[in-house]
Amino acid sequence: MAHALVTGANRGIGLEFVRQLLARGERVVATCRHPGRALELTRLAGAHPGHLLVLPLTLPDTRSIAELVREIATLDLRIGLLVNNAGMLVEGERFGAIDAKALADSFATNAQGPFLLAQALAPRLAEGARVANLTSTLGSIGSTDSLYSPSYSISKAALNMASRLLALALEPRRAIVIALCPGWVRTDMGGANAPLGAPESVAAMLRVIDALKPGDSGSFLSERGHPIPW
Ligand code: NDP
Repeated sequence: MAHALVTGANRGIGLEFVRQLLARGERVVATCRHPGRALELTRLAGAHPGHLLVLPLTLPDTRSIAELVREIATLDLRIGLLVNNAGMLVEGERFGAIDAKALADSFATNAQGPFLLAQALAPRLAEGARVANLTSTLGSIGSTDSLYSPSYSISKAALNMASRLLALALEPRRAIVIALCPGWVRTDMGGANAPLGAPESVAAMLRVIDALKPGDSGSFLSERGHPIPW
Protein backbone atom coordinates (compact mmCIF):
# COMPACT_ATOMS: atom_id res chain seq x y z
CA MET A 1 0.00 0.00 0.00
CA ALA A 2 1.41 3.40 -1.00
CA HIS A 3 2.03 5.96 1.73
CA ALA A 4 0.96 9.59 1.95
CA LEU A 5 3.77 11.97 2.90
CA VAL A 6 2.93 15.28 4.57
CA THR A 7 5.55 17.96 5.33
CA GLY A 8 5.21 20.46 8.17
CA ALA A 9 2.98 17.89 9.86
CA ASN A 10 3.45 18.91 13.50
CA ARG A 11 0.82 21.68 13.52
CA GLY A 12 -1.79 23.54 11.52
CA ILE A 13 -3.00 22.23 8.18
CA GLY A 14 -0.26 19.58 7.95
CA LEU A 15 -1.27 17.99 11.26
CA GLU A 16 -4.91 17.97 10.15
CA PHE A 17 -3.95 16.20 6.90
CA VAL A 18 -2.25 13.50 9.00
CA ARG A 19 -5.32 13.14 11.26
CA GLN A 20 -7.75 12.80 8.37
CA LEU A 21 -5.54 10.47 6.32
CA LEU A 22 -5.08 8.18 9.34
CA ALA A 23 -8.82 8.29 10.09
CA ARG A 24 -9.52 6.85 6.68
CA GLY A 25 -7.02 4.04 7.17
CA GLU A 26 -4.12 5.34 5.10
CA ARG A 27 -0.45 4.85 5.91
CA VAL A 28 1.29 8.16 6.50
CA VAL A 29 4.81 9.52 6.67
CA ALA A 30 4.62 12.75 8.66
CA THR A 31 7.67 14.98 8.52
CA CYS A 32 8.56 17.89 10.76
CA ARG A 33 11.66 19.75 11.87
CA HIS A 34 11.71 18.32 15.40
CA PRO A 35 9.94 14.95 15.76
CA GLY A 36 10.94 14.79 19.43
CA ARG A 37 8.82 17.86 20.14
CA ALA A 38 5.85 16.82 17.99
CA LEU A 39 3.72 15.54 20.84
CA GLU A 40 0.47 15.21 18.90
CA LEU A 41 2.21 13.20 16.15
CA THR A 42 3.72 10.94 18.82
CA ARG A 43 0.24 10.42 20.29
CA LEU A 44 -1.23 9.69 16.85
CA ALA A 45 1.55 7.18 16.12
CA GLY A 46 0.61 5.35 19.33
CA ALA A 47 -3.09 5.41 18.44
CA HIS A 48 -2.46 4.09 14.89
CA PRO A 49 0.24 1.44 15.27
CA GLY A 50 2.04 0.65 12.03
CA HIS A 51 0.25 3.43 10.17
CA LEU A 52 2.25 6.55 11.07
CA LEU A 53 5.96 7.11 10.66
CA VAL A 54 7.31 10.43 11.93
CA LEU A 55 10.57 11.49 10.29
CA PRO A 56 12.67 14.67 10.47
CA LEU A 57 12.76 17.11 7.56
CA THR A 58 14.01 20.67 7.46
CA LEU A 59 13.49 22.48 4.17
CA PRO A 60 15.23 23.15 1.89
CA ASP A 61 18.26 21.49 3.50
CA THR A 62 19.60 19.08 0.87
CA ARG A 63 21.17 16.76 3.45
CA SER A 64 17.89 16.57 5.36
CA ILE A 65 15.99 15.80 2.13
CA ALA A 66 18.56 13.14 1.16
CA GLU A 67 18.31 11.48 4.60
CA LEU A 68 14.52 11.36 4.37
CA VAL A 69 14.61 9.86 0.88
CA ARG A 70 17.25 7.33 1.97
CA GLU A 71 15.05 6.24 4.89
CA ILE A 72 12.04 5.89 2.60
CA ALA A 73 14.12 3.83 0.14
CA THR A 74 15.51 1.64 2.94
CA LEU A 75 11.97 0.87 4.08
CA ASP A 76 11.04 0.35 0.40
CA LEU A 77 8.05 2.70 0.69
CA ARG A 78 6.17 4.07 -2.30
CA ILE A 79 4.59 7.49 -2.03
CA GLY A 80 1.08 7.74 -3.47
CA LEU A 81 0.39 11.24 -2.18
CA LEU A 82 2.91 13.99 -1.43
CA VAL A 83 1.49 17.01 0.37
CA ASN A 84 4.08 19.76 0.20
CA ASN A 85 2.50 21.64 3.09
CA ALA A 86 5.39 23.19 5.07
CA GLY A 87 5.53 26.91 4.52
CA MET A 88 6.28 30.25 6.17
CA LEU A 89 4.98 33.80 6.11
CA VAL A 90 6.90 36.83 7.37
CA GLU A 91 4.42 39.07 9.21
CA GLY A 92 4.29 42.83 9.02
CA GLU A 93 6.22 43.48 5.81
CA ARG A 94 6.03 47.01 4.46
CA PHE A 95 7.25 48.09 1.02
CA GLY A 96 10.31 50.30 1.51
CA ALA A 97 11.59 48.08 4.30
CA ILE A 98 11.43 44.60 2.84
CA ASP A 99 14.27 42.53 4.11
CA ALA A 100 16.57 40.48 1.82
CA LYS A 101 16.63 37.67 4.38
CA ALA A 102 12.82 37.54 4.56
CA LEU A 103 12.66 37.21 0.77
CA ALA A 104 15.43 34.60 0.65
CA ASP A 105 14.02 32.52 3.54
CA SER A 106 10.51 32.62 2.07
CA PHE A 107 11.78 31.49 -1.33
CA ALA A 108 13.88 28.75 0.25
CA THR A 109 11.06 27.33 2.37
CA ASN A 110 8.06 27.91 0.12
CA ALA A 111 9.46 27.26 -3.37
CA GLN A 112 12.92 25.67 -3.25
CA GLY A 113 11.96 23.16 -0.52
CA PRO A 114 8.87 21.65 -2.18
CA PHE A 115 10.56 21.55 -5.59
CA LEU A 116 13.73 19.84 -4.32
CA LEU A 117 11.73 17.39 -2.20
CA ALA A 118 9.50 16.37 -5.12
CA GLN A 119 12.56 15.99 -7.35
CA ALA A 120 14.33 13.81 -4.78
CA LEU A 121 11.23 11.70 -4.12
CA ALA A 122 10.39 11.22 -7.81
CA PRO A 123 11.92 7.70 -7.97
CA ARG A 124 9.82 6.66 -4.95
CA LEU A 125 6.50 7.95 -6.33
CA ALA A 126 3.90 5.29 -7.03
CA GLU A 127 2.44 5.10 -10.53
CA GLY A 128 -0.30 7.76 -10.73
CA ALA A 129 0.81 9.48 -7.51
CA ARG A 130 -0.66 12.86 -6.55
CA VAL A 131 1.47 15.81 -5.53
CA ALA A 132 -0.32 18.75 -3.87
CA ASN A 133 1.79 21.86 -3.39
CA LEU A 134 0.06 24.06 -0.82
CA THR A 135 0.10 27.53 -2.28
CA SER A 136 -2.00 30.66 -1.84
CA THR A 137 -4.12 33.09 -3.81
CA LEU A 138 -1.51 35.58 -2.52
CA GLY A 139 0.81 33.92 -5.07
CA SER A 140 -1.64 34.46 -7.92
CA ILE A 141 -0.15 37.11 -10.22
CA GLY A 142 -3.48 37.43 -12.03
CA SER A 143 -5.51 38.32 -8.95
CA THR A 144 -3.05 40.26 -6.80
CA ASP A 145 -4.25 43.71 -5.78
CA SER A 146 -2.51 44.27 -2.46
CA LEU A 147 1.01 44.59 -1.11
CA TYR A 148 0.31 42.27 1.83
CA SER A 149 3.41 40.16 2.54
CA PRO A 150 5.45 40.48 -0.70
CA SER A 151 8.01 37.85 0.36
CA TYR A 152 5.22 35.32 0.75
CA SER A 153 3.52 36.27 -2.54
CA ILE A 154 6.75 36.16 -4.54
CA SER A 155 7.70 32.79 -3.06
CA LYS A 156 4.25 31.27 -3.65
CA ALA A 157 4.25 32.54 -7.26
CA ALA A 158 7.56 30.71 -7.64
CA LEU A 159 5.98 27.59 -6.09
CA ASN A 160 3.20 27.86 -8.66
CA MET A 161 5.77 27.75 -11.46
CA ALA A 162 7.52 24.88 -9.68
CA SER A 163 4.19 23.03 -9.66
CA ARG A 164 3.76 23.50 -13.42
CA LEU A 165 7.32 22.29 -14.04
CA LEU A 166 6.87 19.28 -11.75
CA ALA A 167 3.67 18.39 -13.62
CA LEU A 168 5.73 18.21 -16.82
CA ALA A 169 8.69 16.44 -15.22
CA LEU A 170 6.56 13.79 -13.52
CA GLU A 171 4.21 13.16 -16.44
CA PRO A 172 6.18 10.04 -17.50
CA ARG A 173 5.38 8.57 -14.06
CA ARG A 174 1.73 9.56 -14.63
CA ALA A 175 1.87 11.67 -11.45
CA ILE A 176 -0.72 14.44 -11.08
CA VAL A 177 0.77 17.64 -9.67
CA ILE A 178 -1.34 20.61 -8.58
CA ALA A 179 -0.90 23.93 -6.84
CA LEU A 180 -3.65 23.90 -4.20
CA CYS A 181 -4.84 26.82 -2.05
CA PRO A 182 -6.36 25.71 1.28
CA GLY A 183 -8.47 28.87 1.62
CA TRP A 184 -7.97 31.24 4.55
CA VAL A 185 -7.62 28.88 7.50
CA ARG A 186 -7.45 29.37 11.29
CA THR A 187 -3.89 28.27 12.11
CA ASP A 188 -0.83 30.00 13.54
CA MET A 189 -0.26 31.41 10.04
CA GLY A 190 -3.86 32.17 9.11
CA GLY A 191 -4.76 33.73 12.48
CA ALA A 192 -7.96 33.63 14.51
CA ASN A 193 -10.14 35.61 12.10
CA ALA A 194 -9.90 33.18 9.20
CA PRO A 195 -13.28 31.81 8.11
CA LEU A 196 -12.23 28.16 7.71
CA GLY A 197 -11.19 25.66 10.35
CA ALA A 198 -8.38 23.27 9.43
CA PRO A 199 -10.73 20.21 9.52
CA GLU A 200 -13.09 21.80 6.97
CA SER A 201 -10.26 23.01 4.70
CA VAL A 202 -8.45 19.67 4.72
CA ALA A 203 -11.64 17.66 4.14
CA ALA A 204 -12.36 19.87 1.12
CA MET A 205 -8.79 19.55 -0.20
CA LEU A 206 -8.87 15.75 0.16
CA ARG A 207 -12.08 15.68 -1.89
CA VAL A 208 -10.28 17.71 -4.59
CA ILE A 209 -7.21 15.44 -4.46
CA ASP A 210 -9.33 12.26 -4.57
CA ALA A 211 -11.19 13.51 -7.66
CA LEU A 212 -8.07 14.49 -9.65
CA LYS A 213 -7.77 13.20 -13.20
CA PRO A 214 -4.61 13.16 -15.34
CA GLY A 215 -5.85 16.22 -17.26
CA ASP A 216 -5.85 18.23 -14.01
CA SER A 217 -2.09 17.98 -13.65
CA GLY A 218 -0.43 21.39 -13.76
CA SER A 219 -3.49 23.30 -12.54
CA PHE A 220 -3.90 25.85 -9.74
CA LEU A 221 -7.02 25.05 -7.72
CA SER A 222 -8.89 26.34 -4.68
CA GLU A 223 -9.83 24.02 -1.81
CA ARG A 224 -13.21 23.64 -3.54
CA GLY A 225 -11.53 22.56 -6.78
CA HIS A 226 -12.16 25.84 -8.61
CA PRO A 227 -9.39 27.09 -10.95
CA ILE A 228 -7.49 30.14 -9.68
CA PRO A 229 -5.78 32.52 -12.16
CA TRP A 230 -2.02 32.06 -12.27
P1 NDP B 1 1.53 27.06 10.09
O1 NDP B 1 2.39 28.28 10.22
O2 NDP B 1 0.46 26.83 11.09
O3 NDP B 1 2.47 25.74 10.01
C1 NDP B 1 3.57 25.76 9.15
C2 NDP B 1 4.23 24.40 9.17
O4 NDP B 1 5.35 24.45 8.26
C3 NDP B 1 4.79 24.02 10.54
O5 NDP B 1 4.71 22.64 10.71
C4 NDP B 1 6.25 24.44 10.41
O6 NDP B 1 7.14 23.76 11.27
C5 NDP B 1 6.52 24.04 8.97
N1 NDP B 1 7.71 24.70 8.44
C6 NDP B 1 7.91 26.03 8.31
N2 NDP B 1 9.14 26.26 7.81
C7 NDP B 1 9.72 25.03 7.62
C8 NDP B 1 10.98 24.60 7.14
N3 NDP B 1 11.92 25.48 6.74
N4 NDP B 1 11.23 23.27 7.09
C9 NDP B 1 10.30 22.37 7.48
N5 NDP B 1 9.09 22.73 7.96
C10 NDP B 1 8.81 24.04 8.03
O7 NDP B 1 0.92 27.13 8.61
P2 NDP B 1 -0.47 26.57 8.04
O8 NDP B 1 -0.72 25.23 8.58
O9 NDP B 1 -1.49 27.64 8.14
O10 NDP B 1 -0.11 26.49 6.48
C11 NDP B 1 0.23 25.28 5.81
C12 NDP B 1 0.46 25.60 4.34
O11 NDP B 1 -0.72 26.20 3.78
C13 NDP B 1 1.59 26.60 4.10
O12 NDP B 1 2.30 26.25 2.94
C14 NDP B 1 0.84 27.91 3.89
O13 NDP B 1 1.59 28.83 3.12
C15 NDP B 1 -0.40 27.44 3.16
N6 NDP B 1 -1.51 28.37 3.28
C16 NDP B 1 -2.09 28.62 4.50
C17 NDP B 1 -3.15 29.52 4.58
C18 NDP B 1 -3.84 29.81 5.86
O14 NDP B 1 -4.80 30.61 5.84
N7 NDP B 1 -3.46 29.22 6.99
C19 NDP B 1 -3.67 30.21 3.38
C20 NDP B 1 -2.99 29.86 2.15
C21 NDP B 1 -1.96 28.97 2.13
P3 NDP B 1 7.61 24.36 12.71
O15 NDP B 1 6.52 24.05 13.68
O16 NDP B 1 8.89 23.65 12.98
O17 NDP B 1 7.79 25.85 12.51
